[in-house]
Amino acid sequence: MLHLFCVPSDCDVTDFFYKKALQQKFEETVLVASSEALVEKARMQGIRAANFDALANAVTEQCSAQLHERLVVRKISRKAQELILQDILDRLQEEGRLPYFGRMSGKKGFIRSVVSLMEQIGSCGATAEEIETAFAHWDGRSPAYRQKDREIAEIYREYLLYLIQNNIYDMSGLYRVAAEELAALRKAGGAVTWKALYFMGFYRFDALQLVIIRLLSQICDVCIALPYEPGRPELYRAAEFTYGDLMQYATRERLPEVRVSVRTASLHHIVRNLRSPEMQPVPADQGIEIWQMSDENEEMRAVLREIKQQLRGKTLKPSEIAVVVRRMEEYSGIRELCDQYGIPVQAEDSAALVASPVFHFVTAILETVFLHGREKVERWIAFLTQPLQKIVLELPTEAVIQLAENNYYTEYRKFLTDVLEKTGCEGLRQLWQEIDAIPAEAAIQDYCDIAGRLLSLTEMPAKAGRLYREGKITLAGFKNMVCASREILALLQKLPQDYRFCRSGRQTTNCAGFVEALADAAGKMSLSLQPENREGIAFLSAVNLEDASFKQVYVLGLRENEFPFYKDENWIYNDRERADLAVLGIPLPSSADGFGEDIHFFMNACAAATERLVLTFYTDEEHNASPYIAEILSLFTDLEVKEIKAETAAEDSLSREELELALARSGQTEVLKQLEPGLAESAGSDRKRLQKAAGWNGNPGGAMLLQQISRQIGDLFSASKLETYRSCPFKFLVTYVWQQKAAEAAGEDMDPMQRGSLLHRVLEIFIRRHLEEKLQQAQYAELQKELDEIFDTVCQEYADKGWLYPGDFWQHDKEQQRILLQRWLRSEIAYNEQGEWRPVSTEQVFGKKGKGEVALDINGRRIYLNGKIDRIDRAGDAYFITDYKSGDAPNKKEFADTDLQLPLYLLAAAMQTKGEVVGGGYYSLKDAERKESFIFPPAAGTVPWKTFSEAKDANGTATDIAAMEDLQATLWRVLGDMLEHIGEGDFSPTPSKDCERNCPAAEICRFRVLTRNREEEDPNG
Ligand code: SF4
Repeated sequence: MLHLFCVPSDCDVTDFFYKKALQQKFEETVLVASSEALVEKARMQGIRAANFDALANAVTEQCSAQLHERLVVRKISRKAQELILQDILDRLQEEGRLPYFGRMSGKKGFIRSVVSLMEQIGSCGATAEEIETAFAHWDGRSPAYRQKDREIAEIYREYLLYLIQNNIYDMSGLYRVAAEELAALRKAGGAVTWKALYFMGFYRFDALQLVIIRLLSQICDVCIALPYEPGRPELYRAAEFTYGDLMQYATRERLPEVRVSVRTASLHHIVRNLRSPEMQPVPADQGIEIWQMSDENEEMRAVLREIKQQLRGKTLKPSEIAVVVRRMEEYSGIRELCDQYGIPVQAEDSAALVASPVFHFVTAILETVFLHGREKVERWIAFLTQPLQKIVLELPTEAVIQLAENNYYTEYRKFLTDVLEKTGCEGLRQLWQEIDAIPAEAAIQDYCDIAGRLLSLTEMPAKAGRLYREGKITLAGFKNMVCASREILALLQKLPQDYRFCRSGRQTTNCAGFVEALADAAGKMSLSLQPENREGIAFLSAVNLEDASFKQVYVLGLRENEFPFYKDENWIYNDRERADLAVLGIPLPSSADGFGEDIHFFMNACAAATERLVLTFYTDEEHNASPYIAEILSLFTDLEVKEIKAETAAEDSLSREELELALARSGQTEVLKQLEPGLAESAGSDRKRLQKAAGWNGNPGGAMLLQQISRQIGDLFSASKLETYRSCPFKFLVTYVWQQKAAEAAGEDMDPMQRGSLLHRVLEIFIRRHLEEKLQQAQYAELQKELDEIFDTVCQEYADKGWLYPGDFWQHDKEQQRILLQRWLRSEIAYNEQGEWRPVSTEQVFGKKGKGEVALDINGRRIYLNGKIDRIDRAGDAYFITDYKSGDAPNKKEFADTDLQLPLYLLAAAMQTKGEVVGGGYYSLKDAERKESFIFPPAAGTVPWKTFSEAKDANGTATDIAAMEDLQATLWRVLGDMLEHIGEGDFSPTPSKDCERNCPAAEICRFRVLTRNREEEDPNG
């Protein structure tokens, strides 16, 4: 019998369920809870408790023991799933059975997507036949998509077959086995040993879990507590499917006298009325607050400061406070901050295994194996100069550095002989022999054995222990080394098991392949450096808050894309396709499910507070406040967002770091010096930067250094190199002398540069096919088809080269780009029909690899220009140059000032073209329009688009540019000035309002920090 208890958001059925469970005999009942925390809590009450996985395992065991010989099936890891699916895809591809996915099948990202899709299909409980039937009845599919469906069905069938043949199961496989065994047991009239089962803490069950519950309810009593209120569909969307399914056979039970959690009036109002159709706003009390801070660091500090004050004043116990975030990985620094403030916290102190020096040590050993010549020497240098070598080999790394700096080795044996001679390090001699014996190819198992043996040989834990006792390394360093050694050894044991079921486990691989496999397997592992303190404040993810209760709850990170956090479902089937599949009986999760889950998590976070709830956020250029903030504000008539600053005066500091910061801010350098040598110097650095003091203004001194910088800059300039200096000399120094690049955020969407390059490539191919042709409206359909085909080919080329990731984002973006190109074509035809200008060349390179030297003699110095002119058009003997822009085109008032590209390209084209270059301009792809076109006055009116003929100086005064000589004179003035300043070593930063976005120097010039300080110092400025 199945009993369903629908639990409103302000009720807590924990005690009621505990009481019911305790009325049964211990061995005849199980309380199944959604999280380990809830399982643990129930066990503390003397109740037999388990999670769903453990229940499924127990079901399988009980059933198989009664039906036949005990089933021996093994669970495989996600890595093993990936490897198995990789094998299947490789085989299908070899047999020519993957024409749709063919090119993608070897890509890592694709394998992961397939694994996740297989899990999602598996969780629906669908068999291979059911999937094939559903696909066969899917109307309106194009032939290409039908092929995709066939391939997915085939992969799924092969995958399930493989699992069955090898007696292994994946995540959903366990539930499938349990459901099948349970069905067979029921048919055979058997029974389980339990009389009653209680499910709590779940807000939804997947299809296979629901099957297990239904079958169990036919042989024992099953009670389920489900958070659900029929009148609030917006709040309980995540539970809707489960509720509907359970109600097909459950008895809906009335809640008895369960405890309605006691909350302040405001908190009660939130819990009762969030997303309620009948909500009426009320005045807020002190139970709810919303804080806005300037950045993430301030956000965490402000919260921890307040907690520290409360703990110090003993107004609350640590265990009465919870700090809640949506995703723990976004707040990895909070544990360290808690330590700084001396706040005990119920969270492990952990570190990523791949970031550990011990992991680097192991991979560095292996990396020396597969290289040759100078590259091999460089790996050895990197390996022997790791700081860890002072401990492991007791090697004086300074001596190694000196040798490497004074000699250019191309033979690693010579380098190692010299190191041995200079240092006499016997450990190195032994290690060298061991490393030389590592085979270039071996099975994964063999490499794991070798790596494990080498790691054991280093005796790292013993050496670290000795150094810690001698006070030479910190406790954290000691723990990191010991834990990392232990985890790596465990990983080396486990890795062969993952590979056991796949082809690459049976074949040999090279050492580089093994290093990649090791890094991949270690990717998500972390080291536990300090166990959690059970008496501390709770630091929790909103995902794990079922039935949690605290006097005070801080919910951090309430900003767009963070909370709510929507993850895109697997791109192989988009949301529209998922909706179709749900109708066909395959309910795969969709983004809409994500919305429903997220609001449930937010409600849990709010409901966890009984006395005070503080919601915090910060905003930046990219993300605003979370929409949940607006929802909470709308519940009250007078609730306001408070702007909170975590900055403190020295006397109010609550941690050493706060004290140091406060002293630095107030310029108390003497006190700082006593506190920490070296801190006073760095504390004053920003002040010096602001005052442009020598050494802090970006201007290197010394003739020798300037000479070296000048050599590094060289004589070859591109327009963007010159424009960089013009916009900010310090950025120029960091980019072209220090050779630093702006860090790009990794993501599925294509970066704008890559997108621009793709469009350029498409237009290049298209225009090259139509040089000197007049395009006409009558040809539009044909030309559009051609442009489309070129676009598809170039997209495929980019995907093959790994320059774009063909995920969901790109599928959407791709269609946008297609539309943009079609609009460009219309506009191109219109320009063609209005005038005589026809393209005569595309992507014309100058000044590169001996192509068309462009030398400029400016103030006695010769420099060379290089670049590529996107397109040159001709009308008679006159030429007009064009630069495509996928973003914004520079404004005409920047011409020959910060926009140097157009005038320099005009000059370069004039030096290279026999006819007369009369002008040039930008072609905005996003607006499908020619823009900001310069033209010498005699030719004005010969082009059918808007032009200008003057340049403005720094004061905004416009001067006519009548001929190429005028343009040259203007450019000579600007370039001469720049070259002079470069020669003098003037590299001061010149901040502007949008300069920090792509600048590789932003963290060094501290533009963001300094600008903020300045604003604070001079609010009117
Ligand atoms: S952030 Fe701005 S001021 Fe700083 S180096 Fe970059 S461009 Fe220059």
